[in-house]
Amino acid sequence: MKRILAGILLLTLLLSGCAQAEPHRAELFAMDTLMELTVWGEESALDSVKTELRRLDALFSVTDERSEIYALNRDGHAALSEDVAALLRDAVSLSEQTGGAFDPTVYPLVLAWGFTTDTQTVPADAVLENALSHVGTEHLHFSGDTLTLDAGTMLDLGAIAKGYAAEQCAKLLREQGVTAALLSLGGNVQAVGEKPDGSAWVIGIADPNEPSSAIARLEFYGEKALVTSGGYQRYFEQDGTRYHHILDPETGFPAESELASVTVIADSGTRADAYATALFVMGLEQAVDFWRTQGDFEAVFILSDGTLYATEDAASLLRGCEFGVISR
Ligand code: ADP
Ligand code: MG
Repeated sequence: MKRILAGILLLTLLLSGCAQAEPHRAELFAMDTLMELTVWGEESALDSVKTELRRLDALFSVTDERSEIYALNRDGHAALSEDVAALLRDAVSLSEQTGGAFDPTVYPLVLAWGFTTDTQTVPADAVLENALSHVGTEHLHFSGDTLTLDAGTMLDLGAIAKGYAAEQCAKLLREQGVTAALLSLGGNVQAVGEKPDGSAWVIGIADPNEPSSAIARLEFYGEKALVTSGGYQRYFEQDGTRYHHILDPETGFPAESELASVTVIADSGTRADAYATALFVMGLEQAVDFWRTQGDFEAVFILSDGTLYATEDAASLLRGCEFGVISR
């Protein structure tokens, strides 16, 4: 009898194991991008991620008139909610770390180029110059929980918000006991825990010339954030020239270098997102110098001519392509 009971128990465990191996999936459109969520565990955990993503989108959106960032940009000051305060603190310090290559105050430039409107155009010199004079974290003044912006300065958290959101959702899932999830928020991927079948997470890196297909893949185990920034993600053409949405806060123009995309792998989604944008702005040489001094991320660089380079530890995760290795 004991043996039968043990057998039934084992069978039940196996069955529940099988049931758990089927993840819950959802898609939603938030933060201006398609998000694909895969969660192993209770369906309520997936729902809580969706709710959290919508909540953060409503706080950080630069175009939604009801958002906290919109109010800050309109009024020039506001009492900050916990999330906006936390993200802005990170944004300012990441901006300092990257020598301003990532800058959360680029919105005057983004507006001048028309990237958030339907009227994308190369701005006149005077318009750019005026916009540039309002860019820089020195224009932000924190006092307690309020922030005041210098006149003309405006925030844009578009280069970091998805990374922060992914990181927050990972935290939320862990609190709910979820041991495995894959959150793909546009070009931002956040892996939570280990895949239940013990296999590696496999994430494709988009081909900059054919973004719907992968040029290579990264295979890894455990928790990581993986973020790609590239000029191919959003752009317009004028007089035969292509202008993309990642701006060099130094010149006011779309960042120009030999890079077609940068993929950053890091423990923190927020950092990975800010770094991906910053490294793209820096260009390969400066980005490699930054990697050598920093030590808290790995990266894969795709050049416009299609060549790939990977930093040492990223190289050991990279499959399906030829690449050069960048050593310390
Ligand atoms: P995406 O959001 O397309 O995945 P990024 O994370 O690189 O790519 O963010 C680009 C967005 O961030 C732009 O659309 C713009 O709103 C803003 N942005 C552009 N240049 C910079 C910059 N140098 N620093 C910070 N934000 C930027
Ligand atoms: Mg980014």
